[in-house]
Amino acid sequence: MFVDKVKIYCKAGNGGNGAVAFHREKYVAAGGPDGGDGGHGGSIVLRVDDNMSTLMDFRYQRKYTASNGQDGQGGRRSGKRGEDRIIKVPRGTVVKDAETEAVIHDMSDAEDFVLCRGGRGGWGNQHFATPTRQVPRFAKAGLPGEEHEVILELKLLADVGLVGFPNVGKSTLLSVTSNAHPKIANYHFTTLYPNLGVIYVEEGVSFVMADIPGIIEGAAEGAGLGHDFLRHIDRCRLIVHIVDVSGSEDRDPIEDFEKINQELAAYSEDLASRPMIVAANKTDLLYDGSDNLERLRQYVTERGYEFYEISAATTQGTKQLMRTIANRLRELPPVTVYEADYVKPLPEAGSSDDLQIEHFGDTWVISGKWLAQLINDINFGDYESRMYFDRQLRKSGLFERLEDMGIEDGNTVSIYDFEFDYER
Ligand code: GDP
Ligand code: MG
Repeated sequence: MFVDKVKIYCKAGNGGNGAVAFHREKYVAAGGPDGGDGGHGGSIVLRVDDNMSTLMDFRYQRKYTASNGQDGQGGRRSGKRGEDRIIKVPRGTVVKDAETEAVIHDMSDAEDFVLCRGGRGGWGNQHFATPTRQVPRFAKAGLPGEEHEVILELKLLADVGLVGFPNVGKSTLLSVTSNAHPKIANYHFTTLYPNLGVIYVEEGVSFVMADIPGIIEGAAEGAGLGHDFLRHIDRCRLIVHIVDVSGSEDRDPIEDFEKINQELAAYSEDLASRPMIVAANKTDLLYDGSDNLERLRQYVTERGYEFYEISAATTQGTKQLMRTIANRLRELPPVTVYEADYVKPLPEAGSSDDLQIEHFGDTWVISGKWLAQLINDINFGDYESRMYFDRQLRKSGLFERLEDMGIEDGNTVSIYDFEFDYER
């Protein structure tokens, strides 16, 4: 079973809570605050593993969590940070938001990607002592780790994609030109999952070619193996279209060629307009008097395609074809890397009724679930983001509530690891 698309749920670890503690020592009357900070939550990290070639491992495990940070303790001891959860994926895995299908990241280089950030640990009361607030009896709760439901979709990284009807000789061509050993047999759909092969043309010149299960007419409507496998040639720079001209399957080569092109177009216009080379295969089987080869040659060259005749089984013409492919690739843009277009929606404020407000001297400590979420996602280095945060707080009715409780100008509003002076 070949698995190349899965949906998983990821949740990073929450930050640990900061501690409220005071230094205690014999003969020292009142020690200072020494509550340690909570540890940061572990993150969910995606990492490319080149030993993996499918998303099979995800079939039975759909939920991934990283561990929480531990709470801080007295004596300025910080809580241990939560361990990251490393999720290994095959190269070429595209990560999408499950809801919008927007691209979050393309795992096609070797860099690790942090999918969900662990929550920051809360500060212990050691941080909150000021000249006017010498006995801070509060600490901060840790922030929640990010969570995200995502789709992992494997899109192989190949320079060249082989397309054509089943049984035309795609796997044979890959096997005689590359290091790959795809399954070959004289019946339809022997290839049930994509194969990648590296073709060495000469010193320093090589490329990767993908053999995908055959497409047949109506694949767009789910006939045969459907269109799913076409995603593996989405990134290809060049398509090599293999057509059987032997007539051994009682089909017409020009019709075959057109049908496959229609299927490509039905899947994606973009893919259909990719540069294409046409190779007529099984020329060793041409019977006397067959005009299949010449008709196809005329038909495709009139339409501007480069045309080759080969026999994959006897390797006739295959070397020349590989050299031509290498030359074409030199002029073509690199393999597509998908740009991220996912924008994380900013969390909205809830009601101030859902917030906990604690009052310590002139400091007002506020916490609550939606507020933690909001703080997590606001970039306080950015003016627009700060304004957004301000608007959300106003919308929630927090300031009215604080007024009712007696807040005064110049008091400190303390929200997780963020503090500001209150002004009416
Ligand atoms: P695919 O379905 O397109 O991958 O086709 P395969 O590579 O599995 O080949 C299908 C059948 O055609 C196999 O029996 C191959 O041995 C045979 N075949 C492939 N290429 C040639 C060729 O050039 N000449 C001959 N005579 N047979 C071929
Ligand atoms: Mg095959």
